[in-house]
Amino acid sequence: MLRDHAEKCIACKICLKECAFLRKYGTPKEIAIHALSATEPPLDFSFECSLCGLCQAVCPPKVGLAPATMFLEMRREAVKRDQGNFRQHNIITNYERRGTSRSFTYYGLPAGCDTVLFPGCALPGTRPEKVKALFHHLRGSIESLGIVLDCCTKPSHDLGRDHFFQTMFTEMRDYLLANGVKKVLTACPNCYRVFQQYGEKLRVETVYEFMAENGAPATPLVDGVITVHDPCGTRFDQQVQQSIRTLAGGKSLRIHEMKHTGSRTVCCGEGGSVSCLLPELAGKWSAKRKNEAGGTRILTYCAGCANFLNRLTPTSHILDLLFAPEKTMTGKVRVAKAPFTYLNRLLLKRWFRKKIPALISRERTSKKETGP
Ligand code: SF4
Ligand code: SF4
Ligand code: SF4
Repeated sequence: MLRDHAEKCIACKICLKECAFLRKYGTPKEIAIHALSATEPPLDFSFECSLCGLCQAVCPPKVGLAPATMFLEMRREAVKRDQGNFRQHNIITNYERRGTSRSFTYYGLPAGCDTVLFPGCALPGTRPEKVKALFHHLRGSIESLGIVLDCCTKPSHDLGRDHFFQTMFTEMRDYLLANGVKKVLTACPNCYRVFQQYGEKLRVETVYEFMAENGAPATPLVDGVITVHDPCGTRFDQQVQQSIRTLAGGKSLRIHEMKHTGSRTVCCGEGGSVSCLLPELAGKWSAKRKNEAGGTRILTYCAGCANFLNRLTPTSHILDLLFAPEKTMTGKVRVAKAPFTYLNRLLLKRWFRKKIPALISRERTSKKETGP
């Protein structure tokens, strides 16, 4: 990976124009050469990269580099060498630990279940009623739909804690496959990416693609203009991006596209947990997004992006729009904040337990962490 960047990067600096992190540390070529020339190069700076992938999107096709993969490798190496443990990340790892714990997890698979809804962590906490409505709506098309309340452990993946991520995700994937699940419907683009990359035989589709094809909830049409923030996780998934525009158009909204959209979208500021270490660097991404939106309501499909951006500029989640269009366009949707998000998740779990006559069910017992 390092050698690839050292040899192939032509130092055109196109990616530097887009990224403050690279402007601080140099071209991917310079960074790779420096890392190769030292016996024990410092790697902790890689935790300042948002892992957003914009550099890959703008890199000339004949070069075709993906610097984020190099920085992720550096993070993994840093964790192995004990250079990657920051107490500022505890808030993220604790969030993930709770999400994968026995108290918060629930797998409910009814008879004949081969498809499950995987809403992730942020949506059930902030918008439990929307998750219920979504499940109910999807059940109209998939009678034996199951539910998995768990975390995909992407936070650990991105923090370079590869051993923990592989252990947890593989266990979940193998459990689902062993119990007849063939397809996972995700509501979070980051979960989607994880299942797409590591799900092996599990097929994955976003609930947005599913609804764009099979029908959205029958709620009132609304008049107005929105702009779409595509999350980094689905930067290269045109079909997912198009499904959001189809669903928003189906509500009769007009869409004003920003300069950075689709494969060239910018990070909301939360990517790679950079905001824990260097809020001012992460803030540059959020500010860019806010400026490009220019006050037009942003519509996004990642609950993390929605929460992060809504602090700066009006931002809604697509599920808010689909299930409560009028309240969404007038900014009246109520979104829960911590610590109530945890209570919501526990109550949602109880609701699913009652709602689904599960043939197979479990709470997850976390594997003890044995390494990075
Ligand atoms: S992944 Fe994003 S933050 Fe990291 S180097 Fe590329 S553009 Fe910059
Ligand atoms: S855009 Fe590609 S070739 Fe140009 S500096 Fe960045 S990584 Fe190197
Ligand atoms: S990627 Fe999905 S499951 Fe993982 S922390 Fe984010 S919302 Fe939760």
